[in-house]
Amino acid sequence: MGGPPLRILVVGAGIAGLAVARALRLAGFRPDVTEKLPPNEFVDAGLYLPGNAARALRRLDLDGPVRPFGRVIHRQRFLDAAGEPLCEVDLDALWAGVGECRALPRRDLYQVLLSGAGGAVRHGAEVSAVELLPAGVGVTFTDGTGGEYDLVIGADGPRSAVRALAALGGPPQPAGQVVYRAVVRDGPEVADWTALLGQRAGFLVVPIGAGRLHVYADEAGTEPPADPLARLHELFGSYGGPVPAVLEALDRVQVGLTDEVELGRWHRGRVLLVGDAAHATAPTLSQGAAMALEDAVVLAESLTAAGSVEAALVAYESRRRPRTRWVRDRTRDRNRTRDVSPALRDPLLRGRGGRIFREHYRLLVGPL
Ligand SMILES: Cc1cc2nc3c(=O)[nH]c(=O)nc-3n(C[C@H](O)[C@H](O)[C@H](O)COP(=O)(O)OP(=O)(O)OC[C@H]3O[C@@H](n4cnc5c(N)ncnc54)[C@H](O)[C@@H]3O)c2cc1C
Repeated sequence: MGGPPLRILVVGAGIAGLAVARALRLAGFRPDVTEKLPPNEFVDAGLYLPGNAARALRRLDLDGPVRPFGRVIHRQRFLDAAGEPLCEVDLDALWAGVGECRALPRRDLYQVLLSGAGGAVRHGAEVSAVELLPAGVGVTFTDGTGGEYDLVIGADGPRSAVRALAALGGPPQPAGQVVYRAVVRDGPEVADWTALLGQRAGFLVVPIGAGRLHVYADEAGTEPPADPLARLHELFGSYGGPVPAVLEALDRVQVGLTDEVELGRWHRGRVLLVGDAAHATAPTLSQGAAMALEDAVVLAESLTAAGSVEAALVAYESRRRPRTRWVRDRTRDRNRTRDVSPALRDPLLRGRGGRIFREHYRLLVGPL
């Protein structure tokens, strides 16, 4: 793209915003990044990154900095509620030639992305108004400051303000799950990604290095309980495998609801949505971070290759739609299987579960 350097604003310094800032810097742009929260506001949680996240990190030249953190995960084990094996997925085989699967503390990925983005995030700056101009975007922040940009990228999460302000969509839809997260220290030894499948509820444990476990649990529902720890004991107290020892070691639990975002378009004028702001799903496939990282890679490539910002946004959206749609559809497929009674589901998973779960990633192992 010729002419003066583009003035780009990235709204939101989560995984998507920082990855976009990194990708744009590598492509020669110098974006501003704003974040409404103060620095170092982290949830104590882990993150599982499938192999396509590693490929995107490699394209962002951040695979080296991420490698010291967390654990490489070689195998997914699916167990029934009693802890008896249902099926397995060999992750090294599934993601061969794409990238390794890794589980790590969110904070570590965040720090790598923040350094990669040049560290310059303006904190405490919340967008309050967006005005679409003939060849740009006027932005106002809640502190009364403002500016004019050639491109505004809304990376402000599932409840995106930019999405609403640019009339790209309304509030997210509830995905119908209550989700629980915790990090356990001094828990049992667990080597693999290990999920216990109950009826309309599941319990996942993944090692994230240094003896810590990332714990994720969900149940069908739309109301978070008043006492999440008590609810976890109530829901999973009769489960087998590592669950009793994990419950024993749990002290603090975060609880929330999952959101789904489905939009007819991701850009209007020179405002574009990326990451969860554009295509949030329930985290069943653990693809949220990978999709955000892939968005960043493809956006920088589209802006570099196209003759105009408008053409770049069209090219970006047409490249990203098939993969994010795939994730949404497979997430819904997998969530529907929760409603099937274990008496029907478990024999099927014992026979064909490995193949079924591998199939959920078929498009994603293909080229970006
Ligand atoms: C319980 C749970 C478990 C998950 N587990 C996994 C997993 O294991 N693997 C995986 O890949 N994904 C997982 N995900 C999904 C993943 O966390 C998200 O897809 C990913 O974090 C999306 O990143 P994002 O940057 O698009 O959005 P966010 O992480 O929501 O970041 C948005 C940022 O924008 C800021 N912001 C919001 N509004 C404004 C504003 N008006 N102005 C300025 N800044 C603003 C916010 O403060 C925030 O920092 C999980 C999600 C949940 C809920």
